[in-house]
Amino acid sequence: MSTLGLTALVTMATVGLSLGPSDTSNNVNMPPANAKSVSIGHPYYGKLVGGVQLPVEGPYHTIQRSTRARRWTWATPYLVRSLMVAARDVGLAHAGEPFVVGNLSKKGGGDIKMSRSHNTGRDVDYAYWTETLQGESAPSAYHRFGDNGRSLDAPGRYRLDLARNWAFVRAMLNSPEAELQYLITSPGIEKQLLRHAQAIGEPAYLIHRAERMMMLPSWAKPHDNHVHLRVLCSPEDWHAGCRNGGPVWPWAVQMYGALEAERKKLSPALHSDDPKARIAAMKVVASRRVDTAVMDVAESLAHEQASVRRAALNTIKAITTEANAHTVLKVARLLNIQIAKRLIAHALPLAGAQGLDTARAICDRSHPAVSERRDADLERKAQRILSQYDWISAILPGGP
Ligand SMILES: [Zn+2]
Repeated sequence: MSTLGLTALVTMATVGLSLGPSDTSNNVNMPPANAKSVSIGHPYYGKLVGGVQLPVEGPYHTIQRSTRARRWTWATPYLVRSLMVAARDVGLAHAGEPFVVGNLSKKGGGDIKMSRSHNTGRDVDYAYWTETLQGESAPSAYHRFGDNGRSLDAPGRYRLDLARNWAFVRAMLNSPEAELQYLITSPGIEKQLLRHAQAIGEPAYLIHRAERMMMLPSWAKPHDNHVHLRVLCSPEDWHAGCRNGGPVWPWAVQMYGALEAERKKLSPALHSDDPKARIAAMKVVASRRVDTAVMDVAESLAHEQASVRRAALNTIKAITTEANAHTVLKVARLLNIQIAKRLIAHALPLAGAQGLDTARAICDRSHPAVSERRDADLERKAQRILSQYDWISAILPGGP
């Protein structure tokens, strides 16, 4: 038996019969929600002040050996708590092997080898839950899984445990402890998880959110043997200098609310008659990544002064993320062709399935930006979106 299997048995024995809906065993060693820590800066070049450690063992999780040895077990209290609560939810609903956690951050944050991010205590890698082909829970040993869910590195032995992998995603999506930003995973595994969610009758809104958060950016490794999960800054951390470094989803009510409060404060200046006031406000929008201000800034794309128009274009490019790219694409339809093309080229690859309509319009040349002349670069980007997301209507019939 592997170490992990043994760990699980010992853990189950320790927890014994206390498993039940009111189980609180995972609260032991859970850091308090108000533990003092600040996640500062961007996940690629930030730090973690006063973070907390995920315990190496819990009733429902274990940390993989290499991570323990490196002591890359530090994170914000809200990431640690959300992982422990979600692992407990999964463990209570589906008995079996524990949740296997990989790299978090090092003490104090900053760069770790092998990963570009993991700087600020908001990133974590975890192994896919695994089962045998007979459906018995098996240790999650960073097996690689193919698009059919079978293990690639141990052929004929394991497959993805879809029930538990999905249960964990759902628990993180609904987490009261932290707001989820990304689940970086292979497209083949994403499809299997979403199909599973649909098959068990999960509500469409939940499948839709999971679809938007699960992605494999072009720079990322295949992620067929682990998931990279990132949570958003807490609003308190954001005010102290935490930068999300990616999408803030509208359903992430705390962080989205903080951005909206900031946008409302800046709104009078963004619409000011004084060009200098507009430009100054746009600088704040860009530097603080007030991503909800796309429409406010877009007004300046038609300003009479070139410097204001230029600032607006640069600001929108700086704040375009996977969460607001479809708004940028809508704005682009109303603009002169040159500016529209630049915004579409920037926003379309980020829009994912939300860019399908724009991609189709570019390919059949019904989009105003290409109706007079084709644009080979935009067409290539549009084709990529169409081929990447052609399966989505089968899972989300009402559209993404
Ligand atoms: Zn990672």
